[in-house]
Amino acid sequence: EAITVANLAKQMGVKATEVIKKLLLLGLPANINQALDFDTSALLASEFGYEVERAGFEEEEVLQVQQDHPEDLRPRPPVVTVMGHVDHGKTSLLDAIRHSNVIAGEAGGITQHIGAYYVQLDTGDVVFLDTPGHEAFTAMRARGAEVTDIVILVVAADDGVMQQTVEAINHSKAAGVPIIVAINKIDKPDANVERVKRELADHGLIPEEWGGDVTMVEISAKKGIGIDDLLEMVLLQAELMELKANPDKPARGHVIEAKLDKGRGPVATVLVQEGTLREGDVYVCGTYSGRVRSMFNDRGQRITVAGPAWPVEVVGLSGVPNAGDDFVVLADEKQAKAVAEHRQVKQREKELTRTTKVTLEKLYEQIKEGQIKEVNVILKTDVQGSLEAIADSLEKLSTPDVKVNLLHSGTGAISESDVMLASASNAIVIGFNVRADVNALELAEQESVDIRYYDVIYQILNDIRDAMVGMLEPTF
Ligand code: GDP
Repeated sequence: EAITVANLAKQMGVKATEVIKKLLLLGLPANINQALDFDTSALLASEFGYEVERAGFEEEEVLQVQQDHPEDLRPRPPVVTVMGHVDHGKTSLLDAIRHSNVIAGEAGGITQHIGAYYVQLDTGDVVFLDTPGHEAFTAMRARGAEVTDIVILVVAADDGVMQQTVEAINHSKAAGVPIIVAINKIDKPDANVERVKRELADHGLIPEEWGGDVTMVEISAKKGIGIDDLLEMVLLQAELMELKANPDKPARGHVIEAKLDKGRGPVATVLVQEGTLREGDVYVCGTYSGRVRSMFNDRGQRITVAGPAWPVEVVGLSGVPNAGDDFVVLADEKQAKAVAEHRQVKQREKELTRTTKVTLEKLYEQIKEGQIKEVNVILKTDVQGSLEAIADSLEKLSTPDVKVNLLHSGTGAISESDVMLASASNAIVIGFNVRADVNALELAEQESVDIRYYDVIYQILNDIRDAMVGMLEPTF
């Protein structure tokens, strides 16, 4: 569970305002209900002469995926994204499919635009994501949301393969998602299906009738020609993929889209990917947590349960999440809250680092311009002895104008959490006879954190002193 400023202060027996003051000095967001991550609370505690012990809060542990037994898996409908060049007919196709939905009429509902819709056919069900295009698809993936099983690539028969067609092909390939081609606008007099096939073959999509493995269906979204054939092919492909999920466990999925609704507050369309979502379930969604107050299907009808591959509108969120955020049901409300708070802290840290970064080279300029009056350092060494020696000498470098602040020190390799702390508080990371591990290096690059390696103590002191007076030579 994340610790807040208030309870950290209470446990140390100091005023919360004292803790807030320290946070502000560190350039971190500060209010009494502020959730603190481990490194920050450890740092704060050490300022007051306390040590914080890790109570074992690890998001991965809380959110751990339990392995499904094969006998618990049930077939589930495929989730489809429509891609293609602008004006080739993606929206028209989505509309045509929506209207060919046989059950829609008799169930008395008109499909609402909630970001995805569910099509029931005699031969099976298919879920369509309502935001066509590879940009949305890849943005979701960048957030870790892999929701699409099959891509329908729409290519206009009168226009052929265009730039965005090629992009869509490459994005789908990068994701390892199979493509079914819909050659659209065959009703047009200048439609040239053979040419489209040739162009697609040039980009590695060989039609089945030419000995390749890509299904291509000729359609007219406008005239409603070939839509049933296309859906049939989608179901066939899905069958080959043996898409399955375990419906008998707490739900997990991803946000397809989210908005602030005037009447209902924050609303998110969640695609349930495994398990079953129920009204009243406790969840974590991105940086938010809460309870499912009510759910609606794509016809605007209230429902109380939603199984795998169901897109549902969830009402009862504490904020508007991002498309691509995860949605995980947890048994424990406190745990859900802790995960959300933990993520909020991380996100804030990240936002802070976007605007402010310190490198040893830039240090002097920033000192001169009065932007910083402290040099924050994170120190990692191989042994305790050198750690103490270096820490001592570093603090002695402080001048009336510039203070050298050792934010965190320890023995062992430079880790991700060292880099995160450095990033959150504009610190330089120094490794004495130790290096950064792979993850830390990656994060440092991402967050532009300056990591420096040394094996001679006086060299560290020289560099920091030089940086403080603007004499450091860049070391590239
Ligand atoms: P998107 O940009 O890919 O979503 O393309 P749209 O679905 O908006 O379609 C672009 C234009 O092509 C619109 O004017 C449609 O009416 C037209 N269109 C789409 N499908 C067909 C079709 O099968 N035949 C003909 N003739 N026109 C079509």
